[in-house]
Parts: sequence; structure tokens; C-alpha cells
Amino acid sequence: MSSEVRFITKNFGKYNPDSIDSYISIGGFSALKKAVKMDGEDIASVIAAAKVKGRGGAAYDMGRKWSQARAVKGEHKLVICNADEGETCTFKDRELIKNDPFNLIEGMIIGAYTVQARDGYIYMREEYRHLRPRLLSAIKQAEEKGFLGDNILGVKGFNFRLHLYSGAGAYVCGEGTALIRSIEGKAGRPRMKPPFIKVSGAFALPTCINNVESFSIVPHLLLDDSNVYTNCGNGESIGTKLVSVGGNVRKPGVYEVPFGTTVREIIFGLAEGIPGGRRLRLVQFGGASGKVSDERILDTPYTYDDLKAAGVDVGTGSLLVIDDRTSVIDFLRYTQAFFSHESCGQCTPCREGNLHMKLLLDKLAAGEAHPCDIEKMKKIANIMTLTSLCGLGEAAQNALLSAMKIFPEVFAVGGAH
Ligand code: SF4
Repeated sequence: MSSEVRFITKNFGKYNPDSIDSYISIGGFSALKKAVKMDGEDIASVIAAAKVKGRGGAAYDMGRKWSQARAVKGEHKLVICNADEGETCTFKDRELIKNDPFNLIEGMIIGAYTVQARDGYIYMREEYRHLRPRLLSAIKQAEEKGFLGDNILGVKGFNFRLHLYSGAGAYVCGEGTALIRSIEGKAGRPRMKPPFIKVSGAFALPTCINNVESFSIVPHLLLDDSNVYTNCGNGESIGTKLVSVGGNVRKPGVYEVPFGTTVREIIFGLAEGIPGGRRLRLVQFGGASGKVSDERILDTPYTYDDLKAAGVDVGTGSLLVIDDRTSVIDFLRYTQAFFSHESCGQCTPCREGNLHMKLLLDKLAAGEAHPCDIEKMKKIANIMTLTSLCGLGEAAQNALLSAMKIFPEVFAVGGAH
């Protein structure tokens, strides 16, 4: 029987998310009080020892990232919380902001103390506009209590201010450099790297970007004296993970699972399986840019390494479940149309490639494709992976290429689709 572990979500329902006093009454800001008595490098070490990986999708070692950001020289540094959460079927950060906004803010203040940042931004997707009043109020209350501002908790020179910025609905603004340009008031288009964000990010200042879930783990981890977090999972996948499950399941939602829980336990246990006795067609892992698999993935433990070995990735932590009412080709047509729409259009492989792949998939769906069309799709996909400027163009064909491996019969021209 599958079960959740409440670690990152342990505050949900325990306090009034509109009241800082309510948060303080359950121990809120205790982690910050502990943090300011520590050296920043030691905080980064705690995170590194727990092997926390960034939860936005890239899974970069978070302790190392904070340590590197701390080492960058600069009078004025920034921390940014990426709350753009634009990947399909990914809605865990929304739940964290909605149910536990003060914990996120506390995590960002600890981040600022660690990397020695003076300003922070929460970049939240436009679709979460209903959460703006809650976050703005939380920031104001934190300022009034002295958790934001100058000489925080009496620590001389620890000055940190937090700003909320809303995107305008562009998927690509989840990409770090596009997000930064958007905060700067420019069109949200990715740029070439270097310079790297940690050295020259928003307003050309050294910047450390983390995801909502990543910041939200930190206060809990600093207070985890009984090692609840590190006792979950194994190998490179320590702790718990928020997984958002959607699509054709009885109980879509966000579940906090220990790493190592099987995919079957998540889909058929926690999310209660597919309604109407229908069969599983495919599962997409980690949003529209994620890879797909079929029922052969179900007994795989949900860990970074096990999923990778099975041909998919944790990515943003979403599981999109598709039943047998949707064909593989229709699913891919939708995905490619999504990327064609969301491509910022500044580089040719992505702008043209997504469109042409969609047209070739249409041809395949209509039964009009030739063997050379399949080869063309593979060629375009590979060119996009190798030559696109940002992650959108590099990953837009993940679903297609993985589906070609899992469902070869669908791409046998003239075969079933
Ligand atoms: Fe824009 Fe696509 Fe190029 Fe990224 S890969 S910069 S989204 S055109």
C-alpha cells in the first residue's frame, strides 16, 4: 500500500497562510533563527549532504549551487525564485505557494543569507494571479516583523528585500535567462550563455535561481534533527519529492512521496488509477518536454537513476497519465503544437522544426506519411537538439523520440496509430 510522507508539505493545513502570527505559532522562522547563527557555507553543506537537487527540472546539485553563488564576488547579489511552473501537468509549486507561503519566504531569506544576496524576486506565472494577494501580504507581514529589511534578526549588514513579479503567460520564461529578461522588463527571450547567470544574471548582477520546491525544502531540512528527510530514498535520490499527477486518473493531485516509491504506487495507489476500467496508453514524465513510456515503467522506483535507466527523467516531477482513448500520434501532435506555439521564434531550428514536426505528425495521422517522412522527423529532431539556443528547442522533441522507441509500430508507415 502506497503512502505519502509529510516533510515538504508538513505545514499544509496547520496554519492560516494569510497570517504570519499563525505561521510563527507553529514554529515558523525557527529555521531562519538557526541559520543566522551558522556560517553560510555550513548551510550549503547541509543541503549538499542531503543531496537536494533543484526541483525545477534540471536537478542541479543545490548545495553546490549555493556554495558557488556564495563564492561569486559582488556587492549586490540576487536570489530569484522561479515560480513560473509552465510545464504541462506540473502544479506542485502552486500548492506550496497557496498552502505555505511563509515557508517559501523563509527559505528565500535563508538562501539570501547563504549566498549574501540583497534582493530577491519571486517570478510567478501569470496564471497564478489569484495567489498574488496572498504572497504580497505575506511579504508585507514579513517586512513588518523584521524578517525582511535591514539588519534582519539583529544581524548587522544582513539586509534583504523581496519583490514579487508576474510573468505574462509565456512558457519559455521558465528558462533562466528568459525569466531574467522578463524581470528586467524586456521581451522574455532566452540569451546565449556565457555569461552565466550566477555571475551576470538579472540587471547584470550575480544571481542564484532556484525553484519554489527547492527553496521550500530548506527550512524543514535545517530543523530536521531526527533525519526524517535523509532517511527516505537512497543513492543519489535522498528525501521526498512532490509529484503532480494528472490526466486520466481518478484522483489527480500533488503527492509527497519518498524517493523509491514505484510509479505504479503513485498512479494506481495514491492517484487511484485510471477510471472506467480503461487501459494505460502512456505516461509522460516531467512536463511537455519530458519523455514518455508505457506500462513497462510501472514497477520502476521513482528515483533519478532508476527512471533514467528506464528511459525517462524526474524533470519537474509530474506524471501525465493518458489512457487508451488518446492515440500516441494525437498526443504527440498536441505536444508539438504546444511547442510550436510557445517557441520564442528567435532561432530557426526551434521555430521551424516544431512546426514541421507537427505537420509531419498530421500527415502520419492522416495515413499519408511515407517512410522518408519518419526519417525527416528524426533528422529535424536531432538538428533541434544539437543546434537550438535554449532548453525549449533542445527538449521539445523528447516526447516524440522516446515514443519512437516505445511504440515503434506507430511509426511503421501504414501501421496502426
Ligand atoms: Fe526561442 Fe526556441 Fe530558440 Fe529557445 S530554442 S531561444 S525558445 S526559438
